[in-house]
Amino acid sequence: MPTSDIIIIGGGIAGISAASALSNAAKVVVLEAEKSIGYHATGRSAAIYIKNYGNATLRALNARSEAPLSVPALPVDAPILTPRGELLIAQPDELDVFEDYFQDSDGLERLSPRQAHDLVPILKTDMFCAAVYEPKAQDIDVDLLLAGYARHARSNGADIITNATVQQMRYDGCFWTIETTNGTYQAKIVINAAGAWGDHIAEIAGVTPLGLRPLRRSAVLMPLPNHLPCENWPLFGSITEQWYAKPMGGKLMISPADEDPVQAQDVFPDDMTLAEGLWRFEQATTAPIARPSHSWAGLRTFLPDRTPAVGFDANSDGFFWLVGQGGYGVQTSPAMSELAADIILGNQPAIDQSHIAALSPHRFSQ
Ligand SMILES: Cc1cc2nc3c(=O)[nH]c(=O)nc-3n(C[C@H](O)[C@H](O)[C@H](O)COP(=O)(O)OP(=O)(O)OC[C@H]3O[C@@H](n4cnc5c(N)ncnc54)[C@H](O)[C@@H]3O)c2cc1C
Repeated sequence: MPTSDIIIIGGGIAGISAASALSNAAKVVVLEAEKSIGYHATGRSAAIYIKNYGNATLRALNARSEAPLSVPALPVDAPILTPRGELLIAQPDELDVFEDYFQDSDGLERLSPRQAHDLVPILKTDMFCAAVYEPKAQDIDVDLLLAGYARHARSNGADIITNATVQQMRYDGCFWTIETTNGTYQAKIVINAAGAWGDHIAEIAGVTPLGLRPLRRSAVLMPLPNHLPCENWPLFGSITEQWYAKPMGGKLMISPADEDPVQAQDVFPDDMTLAEGLWRFEQATTAPIARPSHSWAGLRTFLPDRTPAVGFDANSDGFFWLVGQGGYGVQTSPAMSELAADIILGNQPAIDQSHIAALSPHRFSQ
């Protein structure tokens, strides 16, 4: 039976970035159920880095991730981040949320409706009264980032085993033995990076689940009339996340910003949800709705306080949580994987102790 120091369950951005961060110091095996890595949430994201997105702990992780995403110490042959910008608009009844967005923020600019319209000429200026612009929001090349982490991990001797659905787990007081559809593996430490399936993995392991909630988020790709050049527009949307849109390959990706609770699964969009989201987009813009060329959905999986869990389980030895990344898992992957590695290897973490406490899975057992 192959024995390693650490087994990571899940070959999404969480598991593969953790493998990369740990592979210098430990023998790591990643077990992924699908035939390729990044098939679920990771492969379906909007691919944007927004420094001011999320609560204080997430913003600390975003800030910590900025440098490694900008100048990656990974084997990649192109930039991971490229300029995009983010523009959020607010109606009069959304001004409370709008003002809250500036709390503890970094690099935000207030724009008038006219200035916002200059950036995105399809916005109807009579449909909003305020706008905020984050010029340093950037597109993330998620495939390149994931491949960079995987290449780095493999070059340090990590094994990434696909078609390996974890089916049974047992702990003998020293080693975890993990039975999969592609062999049996053993390690002292197991990292649960199974995304929407994180609580399912806990149940298999006999560990108390944390209360993960997979929420579906959908998107379409829609052509614009007369090939309206949109490539340099920022991501734009409503401050209360009613909808958002982002240029992608000459078309617009439009999301209803839905958050429908569903079971962990290979998820598909719901037609009615898409139609309602496109209607909200249509109210705010002059762009006519055209037949989408493509639609998809993915799971953003949250814990009840919408903060991820990074750390050893309070009651089960050798069981490490790396879950609940919600809508932030790609952009926070450098900081989250660094923190996971620091805790496991006994190094002093770089982020503030208050954020480490906010991320600890122990907060659910107190
Ligand atoms: C529409 C959408 C837009 C988003 N936009 C952004 C964005 O712009 N920026 C950003 O930072 N984040 C964004 N996110 C969030 C981001 O995609 C997620 O936070 C991130 O991908 C989560 O990564 P993960 O590795 O935890 O999960 P996943 O990528 O889902 O990986 C978990 C893996 O575990 C595997 N697994 C599950 N059960 C088992 C088992 N029994 N055995 C073996 N393997 C198993 C699964 O097959 C899966 O590959 C978005 C998400 C969606 C859906």
